[in-house]
Amino acid sequence: MMQKTRTRFAPSPTGFIHLGNIRSALYPWAFARATGGDFVLRIEDTDLERSSQAAVDVIIEGMAWLGLNHDEGPFYQMQRVDRYKAVLADLQAAGHVYPCYMSIAELDALREKQMAAKEKPRYDGTWRPEPGKTLPPVPEGVQPVLRFKNPIGGVVAWDDKVKGRIEISNDELDDLVIARPDGTPTYNFCVVVDDIDMAITHVIRGDDHVNNTPRQINIFKALGKEVPVYAHLPTVLNEQGEKMSKRNGAKPVTQYREEGYLPDAMVNYLARLGWSHGDDEIFSRAQFLEWFNLDHLGRSAAQFDESKLRWVNAQHLKAMADDALEPLVRARLAKQGITADQRLVRICGLFKDRCDTINALADWAARFYGDVVISEEDRATHLVPAIFPALDALAAKLAQCDWTKPAIAAAFKETLGEFALKMPQLAMPVRVLAVGTAHTPSVDAVLELAGKEKILANLQKR
Ligand code: GLU
Repeated sequence: MMQKTRTRFAPSPTGFIHLGNIRSALYPWAFARATGGDFVLRIEDTDLERSSQAAVDVIIEGMAWLGLNHDEGPFYQMQRVDRYKAVLADLQAAGHVYPCYMSIAELDALREKQMAAKEKPRYDGTWRPEPGKTLPPVPEGVQPVLRFKNPIGGVVAWDDKVKGRIEISNDELDDLVIARPDGTPTYNFCVVVDDIDMAITHVIRGDDHVNNTPRQINIFKALGKEVPVYAHLPTVLNEQGEKMSKRNGAKPVTQYREEGYLPDAMVNYLARLGWSHGDDEIFSRAQFLEWFNLDHLGRSAAQFDESKLRWVNAQHLKAMADDALEPLVRARLAKQGITADQRLVRICGLFKDRCDTINALADWAARFYGDVVISEEDRATHLVPAIFPALDALAAKLAQCDWTKPAIAAAFKETLGEFALKMPQLAMPVRVLAVGTAHTPSVDAVLELAGKEKILANLQKR
């Protein structure tokens, strides 16, 4: 039987999660879903100074909004410290770990010496026990760090699903500090213990971790565990071509919800930021999960493009059913203090084609609720006295007509005939008076939705 796929997203809650980070959640989530596996959420919160609950909240909220639901977790590393210590004790008992008493000053001196000799700075193994080797005398009152006995000679190699085969010579890796003087285990060790305990089969993460991987693989091996498959994703760059980060203006993921983006459109856009399925640009969540695998991940950095995101959002918005859009627009209007009525679903249908966000659609809908605001420019361009007689005639006909689209259209047609006008000459001023803008979908549909009473009142407001 095939082993069940298990993936994880392991964010550090330092700063608010942005689109570049969340893509590292999307792919492991998609891979788990596509293969009938499990997706685990793990919060790597051991950096106490930089981690915050607010950042955890944005991670969890952002993932929930995008529908990247996890099957297990969130597990917090800070709650697993006892477990790390227990595994560390096992590793020490098996002879893979040794105490090192080298002081910071000695380490600095060593580094300087190596740099002066144009060597790569690395720990020199002073305290590493070897058969027949005499270790220096243990200094008094010094708490040692624990170092991992990295294998000597040979290579660490793995077939990265994005980068291909990677081989690192063990001689390039010095003996990693695996526990601090107070006994707390360090980052790379905790990650390995977690990936083992959580039975992770595929580690899909940002390539800023690629340097940690050979060290982590050696720890897996020392613990006698199978090494997972790795896929290291290239960075996401911002529009200026820099690595996306909060410091250079990346927005928290949840900000896109406030701006009226749709979760499925976000998933679509983010999916394409480093993965492809032929030339397909617009696809549903279900199609994405049907197509996703680790074989078509891009090798080069992807660049974020907000205008493309808007375009993708517009395509999804257009394709959505009116009654699915309605509650989203209703919620947005409620934030503006507007209570929408049953017309809203039809308003969504009429305007969705010209909107790229829910907020833009809500702005259109808002014109149907409350007073119309007319700009000075529209007033000067469209509400000129020459058109007033025609407006009066139209108003008289509309006052008499059944409030249906065909009847409204007929009233227009008659008025145009009487005054020898072309449709835009009459429709533009009417639109300005009806909803505060000269450009809308068909004027009879707009009027019908706006309501007879309101239109008859507004036609007088010139
Ligand atoms: N906590 C790491 C980060 O946020 C990810 C570690 C991993 O995926 O192994 O970059």
